[in-house]
Amino acid sequence: MIFEYAPAPESRSVVTLRESYGLFIDGEFAPAASGENLTSLNPADETKLAQVAVAGPEDVERAVAAARRAQETVWGRMSGAERGKYLFRIARIVQERSRELAVLESLDNGKPIKETRDVDLPLVAAHFFYYAGWADKLAHAGLGPDPKPLGVAAQVIPWNFPLLMLAWKIAPALATGNTVVLKPAETTPLTALVFAEICQEADLPPGVVNILTGAGDTGRALVEHPGVDKVAFTGSTEVGRQIARSVAGTDKRLTLELGGKGANIVYEDAAIDQAVEGIVSGIFFNQGHVCCAGSRLLVQESVADEVLTRLKERVARLRLGDPLDKNTDIGAINSAAQLERIRELTEAGEAEGAQRWSPACDIPESGYWFAPTIFTGVSQAHRVAREEIFGPVLSVLTFRTPDEAVVKANNTPYGLSAGVWTEKGSRMLWTAERLRAGVVWSNTFNKFDPTSPFGGYKESGYGREGGRHGLEAYVG
Ligand code: NAD
Ligand code: MN
Repeated sequence: MIFEYAPAPESRSVVTLRESYGLFIDGEFAPAASGENLTSLNPADETKLAQVAVAGPEDVERAVAAARRAQETVWGRMSGAERGKYLFRIARIVQERSRELAVLESLDNGKPIKETRDVDLPLVAAHFFYYAGWADKLAHAGLGPDPKPLGVAAQVIPWNFPLLMLAWKIAPALATGNTVVLKPAETTPLTALVFAEICQEADLPPGVVNILTGAGDTGRALVEHPGVDKVAFTGSTEVGRQIARSVAGTDKRLTLELGGKGANIVYEDAAIDQAVEGIVSGIFFNQGHVCCAGSRLLVQESVADEVLTRLKERVARLRLGDPLDKNTDIGAINSAAQLERIRELTEAGEAEGAQRWSPACDIPESGYWFAPTIFTGVSQAHRVAREEIFGPVLSVLTFRTPDEAVVKANNTPYGLSAGVWTEKGSRMLWTAERLRAGVVWSNTFNKFDPTSPFGGYKESGYGREGGRHGLEAYVG
């Protein structure tokens, strides 16, 4: 026993939820043509938060037409400096409303307030500030003397970082003179709808940003619409493949950010306490609902026992529970469906012979929860070593030599992220050079910055978001 924490809940009174939300098309909220709705839940207690409209083909048609009109008559003709002013304004309003947005994101998604407040929201604002700064400097981005927008961008995003993925998609598209129709995930639509209000508050011209809520059918209708010039998708590899097939043979441009099975490599000369912190944040940050999570720990055999002992001590101190409590480290799993997927894969891990460990941990009675879990004795053929679990589950493998570490790290159909822990600079560079991963973190993990490009190799997708590279996906 260390000491007891008193509850420290953030107040939800900063959030005013409407009972139902319409689609945001051409600067206004409107019900879906079909009148159909879906309900977004709070995954921490399964209570209903609000109803949102489900966009169908007619609504997609209206939104794409509004985006086209706005692009051709207003946004595409505006100077970069003028567009930048709107983006700076949006960034400032996001900052002003960040407490409200952080609480709403925690309610709708289940992630801890500590993370929405200190990671998601600061990064959302930073992304808009960063791309606002590019809007009048595109001629100096190394993309030719006068880069031209593509037109209308269809953007489909997942539920793990709802507002942050929106920022990653919308900020570079708008900075380069494109207009957008964005579909948030069906379990986390609410911060995108508050973002629509922010666009109104910023006096953004109608049609520049359109938000269509709905599930997979809405997403499919949007990306398949012949009036869009560019498709940007973040989500599962399976849906990414479907989208790639539907876009093939059209002249739409496509970027895909898909799954991952990141390796976190700990060499025997690493600073062990720091490495343990990095392993924890690599896989337990955001309940492991992170495409670039360090879900495969590769630890050098000579230090494996020590690392695992300290790691288990550390994981036993993580606090699971109310996402709005400021001391919570692990919040709720986003949906019943995701919880089911995590259970299925962890059961397969046990059935295939890996050893499962979780600390003693009280699980709340309602809501979707999964205790932090570590698998040891994992072999490369096990499903828990190959498939993306997208939950708080770490698979531990060992290695003897640097060559073996690299071979094992690269033995995956994915290639999004990796981490390397060593005190030796030469070993760091030697390893990073050989890893087939879009991002390699050195003595840290899950660090994000709008100036840095992010994206994958192989089945993790293609195209880069963030940084100067992120502009390239939106100009012709
Ligand atoms: P998903 O790919 O089904 O959903 C992502 C987004 O795509 C959502 O907005 C969804 O409504 C939309 N969508 C679904 N079907 C579509 C279609 N045919 N056409 C266009 N849009 C469509 O992901 P999921 O079911 O929520 O999660 C499944 C798995 O995907 C997870 O377990 C995880 O492994 C992976 N995932 C990865 C990421 C990531 O950031 N790379 C994010 C979420 C999920
Ligand atoms: Mn929800």
